[in-house]
Amino acid sequence: MHITAVKGFNDILPAETPTRQFIEETARQVFGRFGFSEIRVPVLEKTELFCRSIGDTTDIVEKEMYTFCDKGGDSLTLRPEGTAGVMRALIEHKLYAQDNVNKLYYMGPMFRHERPQKGRYRQFHQIGAEVTGAGDPFVDAQVLLMLSRLFRELGLDEPRLQINSLGCPDCRPAYRDALVSFLGQRQELLCDDCRRRQSGNPLRALDCKAPGCIEATREAPAILEHLCGDCHDHFQAVQSYLNVAGVPFGINNRMVRGLDYYTRTTFELVTSLLGAQSAVAAGGRYDGLVSQLGGPAVPGIGFALGVERVALLLGDRCRPRTPDLFVALAGEESRRPVFQLVAALQDCGLWVETDVEGKSVKSQMRRADRLGARYSMVIGENELAAGSAALKRMADGSSRQAPLVASAVAPLLAE
Ligand code: ATP
Ligand code: MG
Repeated sequence: MHITAVKGFNDILPAETPTRQFIEETARQVFGRFGFSEIRVPVLEKTELFCRSIGDTTDIVEKEMYTFCDKGGDSLTLRPEGTAGVMRALIEHKLYAQDNVNKLYYMGPMFRHERPQKGRYRQFHQIGAEVTGAGDPFVDAQVLLMLSRLFRELGLDEPRLQINSLGCPDCRPAYRDALVSFLGQRQELLCDDCRRRQSGNPLRALDCKAPGCIEATREAPAILEHLCGDCHDHFQAVQSYLNVAGVPFGINNRMVRGLDYYTRTTFELVTSLLGAQSAVAAGGRYDGLVSQLGGPAVPGIGFALGVERVALLLGDRCRPRTPDLFVALAGEESRRPVFQLVAALQDCGLWVETDVEGKSVKSQMRRADRLGARYSMVIGENELAAGSAALKRMADGSSRQAPLVASAVAPLLAE
């Protein structure tokens, strides 16, 4: 019996890795320009970390976590998102004491027990960034600018930025009461989840996809009309910075995000190209999170993007690399000199393939074609005696003589 991968856990095959590498490398470049450093935290954390940060009544904690007891009886969880672990590390290593402002990014696998479908998997990958220690709207706008620059560099104009404000502990309770009493009159329309969440997490009804909830919340009070003066000013300032930087955005006052720790600015990058999986990236401000996890009262803001969804948007734009040269062997006596030539060309930074199967020259040339080699060369007894061989350009079949030394072949391959 074959052993297959766990459902929803995918292999990323060589044909798919160029796209992944392109996304990762572009993110590193763009984040580097904004002064972010990479942090790598474990994929496994104590379960309590996620319950305390993400929130007990969120979809993630209620239904989606991979939680198990290890042999020592501790409850552990495969991380469903990155922020909690990064904040744990920030506190544990007192990074906030080394520098007031920390700008960190991460990339790696996340795990959620969801129903697998296009753009939704059980092991998926996120690239995320976090800024702690600065509550100024300038930082919100800078983070959004960085995200929009990342998508520009990826060559994607599709995901559109939507922003909202969720207020703060001063103004959200009053909004929450207004929403609860509004929803109280429409109980019969709400789905079971939203009815149950009335006491713990009533805001979730605003972005529930159930038809009844959409109907029930159509005229619901808007959070943006309940912001306190400070939150209102903060939200206005974020918008004015985005405007001066020319970052396009829309306001979506129903966006509530699925994690409890958010305050003030929240945002999503949404696309219509991925069906129900419309969010490509999402994030927001989390001013209470670090203190909630036992650290100092430092504000924070961050986002995470779904690498698989970005890869779907990119499609097959990233072509796999192809060899610079294929050296075909005509006769056993070529093997050793070709080995030497290939090694010297590799030292020049070139990708050179040769035969390792003992095939005929004809079938070696078929392989050169299949690999998409840019140049090819056949080396046998005659070429070794002459000290040169015909270097053939595969695209047009043209060829020229090249001496069999790397310093002579390498410049020709660059043409
Ligand atoms: P969704 O509404 O699609 O469930 P979410 O609100 O749960 O998304 P976040 O927790 O904000 O997502 O994660 C940020 C990003 O990670 C999402 O915008 C999405 O691109 C990606 N993502 C989330 N869950 C998955 C998953 N199961 N498979 C693939 N990508 C995912
Ligand atoms: Mg989700």
